[in-house]
Amino acid sequence: MTSTATPSDILAAIKAVCGDEKSPLVLHEPLFSGNEGDYVKSCIDDGWVSSVGAFVDRFEKDIAAFCGAPHAVVTVNGTCAIHAALTALGVGAGDEVLIPSLSFVATANAVVHAGAIPHFVDVEEISLGIDPRALNAYLKEIAVIKDGQTINKTTNRPIKVLMPVHVFGHPCQMDKLAQIAQEWNLSIVEDATEALGSTAQQTPVGKNHMAVFSFNGNKIITTGGGGAIVTQDEQLHHRIKHLTTTAKQPHKWAFYHDEVAFNYRMPNLNAALGCAQLEKLPEYITAKRALAKKYIDIFSKLSGVTIMQEPENTRSNYWLVTLLADTATDTWLEETLTHLHEHKVFCRPIWQPIHTLPMYSKNPSAPLPRTTDLAKRIINLPSSVCLGQKYV
Ligand SMILES: *Cc1c(COP(=O)(O)O)cnc(C)c1O
Repeated sequence: MTSTATPSDILAAIKAVCGDEKSPLVLHEPLFSGNEGDYVKSCIDDGWVSSVGAFVDRFEKDIAAFCGAPHAVVTVNGTCAIHAALTALGVGAGDEVLIPSLSFVATANAVVHAGAIPHFVDVEEISLGIDPRALNAYLKEIAVIKDGQTINKTTNRPIKVLMPVHVFGHPCQMDKLAQIAQEWNLSIVEDATEALGSTAQQTPVGKNHMAVFSFNGNKIITTGGGGAIVTQDEQLHHRIKHLTTTAKQPHKWAFYHDEVAFNYRMPNLNAALGCAQLEKLPEYITAKRALAKKYIDIFSKLSGVTIMQEPENTRSNYWLVTLLADTATDTWLEETLTHLHEHKVFCRPIWQPIHTLPMYSKNPSAPLPRTTDLAKRIINLPSSVCLGQKYV
């Protein structure tokens, strides 16, 4: 029986991958090595810096094309994009939305912004996404379909949407989740904020179902702040565009707005950055996959820990490389992170499960044994694109 690698073993392995040149080693830094400067400067030169402009139109077209979907709407950030997507689907007060508790808090916040109630479900270890088998068993136990609408028997509220999250870029088992959603008449919104460029069953994330992306500074490509909704449905596309642009009816000069809506438009300056970043995305994904491979090689020599690999039948963008301990004591995470931070290697744990945060502690929830266990065993390692370039 071998013991778990010590914090100094883990530090040494990270240094073996990342080298000594960079200190501190951060989790994820952006890289601007293409047309970013030229495109942003052209906005300033033309005066088109704000919420309309050629780069906004182009970025929407480019994102949709990249995902193989017909439509995209770009927004100020990913949280607003999820909010708009849910609202466009008719989600509102008194509705429940199924989400994993093991996600960034914005997933739940966006549901609340839409007026609805996050209902937490458990995840699986291979993808860190919603566990299809547990979800299916849970729905059979707690839900019933009445007049075509799935109702939570305990709360008597409609369950409207299933929102899988592709954690750290690894796609969940979307084929199985989509089948469950179909059986229970649930709409799907994929929180794909971390998974731009990942594919599942040879299909790009965003091609088959409505998906939301984020271009925050820490994501695989960035617009400073930004988000997008990608959809296959022309009507939903119009609805989302309308909702995110203050519900203004197009007219040369008149200000006629037909409902209370949002100003969630992405400014042209940010879209200019996005167009340049998207040109580089295939190259960035190659670098990140090479970095992950190097981590996998080096860490395979350590005992009791592994680097998480892309689930079968998927191709991950490896947004954040993830170290998983086989088992962990209650102090493992704290001790390891303390040691790494002392040596200026700024690794992070996975999020504290959302259902344990004060504002969500009374929400409806499935049993969450995997979520609770995994949260103690995960550390994200330095994953910047620049670190992977030397391994391409
Ligand atoms: C980044 C992120 C979001 C929110 O995106 P913002 O652009 O920061 O609003 C939502 N969900 C997950 C899982 C994320 O990682």
